[in-house]
Amino acid sequence: MIDLAVEHVEATVGEENERTCWGCGLRVLLPSNAPIFKCGWCGAITNQRSRKRKDKSLWWRRWRDRCFVSVVSLFMLFILGGGVWAVYPVVFSISYFCGIFHSLVTAILAVSTFTTFGLAAFRCAGRPPDIQWGSYPVVGKGDLEDYTFCLYCCKPKSPRTHHCRSCGMCIDYMDHHCPFIGNCVGATNHRHFIIFLISSLLSTMYVAIICSYAGWHIWPPLRFTSLARPYAFGNGSVLRVVRELSLALLSSATLLSARGIILVYLIVSSLSVQIGLTVLLWQQLCYIYEGETYLSHLSSGAGGRSGERDCQNLVRFFGCPYAFLRYLPINRSSRKRHRK
Ligand SMILES: [Zn+2]
Ligand SMILES: [Zn+2]
Ligand SMILES: [Zn+2]
Repeated sequence: MIDLAVEHVEATVGEENERTCWGCGLRVLLPSNAPIFKCGWCGAITNQRSRKRKDKSLWWRRWRDRCFVSVVSLFMLFILGGGVWAVYPVVFSISYFCGIFHSLVTAILAVSTFTTFGLAAFRCAGRPPDIQWGSYPVVGKGDLEDYTFCLYCCKPKSPRTHHCRSCGMCIDYMDHHCPFIGNCVGATNHRHFIIFLISSLLSTMYVAIICSYAGWHIWPPLRFTSLARPYAFGNGSVLRVVRELSLALLSSATLLSARGIILVYLIVSSLSVQIGLTVLLWQQLCYIYEGETYLSHLSSGAGGRSGERDCQNLVRFFGCPYAFLRYLPINRSSRKRHRK
């Protein structure tokens, strides 16, 4: 890439090396036929080889995203409805207070999960601000520093902006395109996405615990054929006990009611979703702590990290008010470091 000043270019320019900057419209003199150059006035990067692109498969990606969002919404509704139907008779049979307490916990978790899911999925992930470009008097010096030209949107694209081919637009501070919310995770909905992950993780943990408890209450009694007899441990007796126990569990599982089957399904599915959510949430919190997004992490992978590791990044991300921030120990230690 070539960085050039454009003053007096028009007077001295030779035909073969004259290029026009897309950002400010000024003509730039290049010493060679380099296809990529940076304008010395506005700072925009021009790639002569790139051509305007049209995305023909956008409708298919939008359709795929909508299907994913519908499946995820139905799954969440099923977990909520199935859980209430299978667990509530058990908790209300214990005591009225126990039933009311679990109803309240369920309502809080359901409202927070569905609300943050809606905000993450249906809110625009981050439309880049409209900036003026294309003509010299309007674009000031350095106004488009390191901006490139989006060949899909035909608009300037800042270094922190990426074009998402699934959303069909440029997204400010794009982290990644998430098929499960059918939307990008960017400047506007990143916080909602993280709170959605935390809320879903807590909900699946709660579902696994309460369903295991209800399942234990309604599980048919185990029938052992020979376990009652005294065993002399050793000589493979542990293996026999395990075999007996598995057979007893399997035979009693065949006697399970529809409620019992739903409970087993809820336990297995919530535990498997929990594993995926934990990995995703941990990865996301690590990127925020490092002051990066998933995409900036990928692009900085070869050339080292771009952000600074700091707990302040996490505090800033979750938007803690300044008055509260002053009393946090991490804030004091970071201020001391800045003073040095
Ligand atoms: Zn320029
Ligand atoms: Zn774009
Ligand atoms: Zn997207």
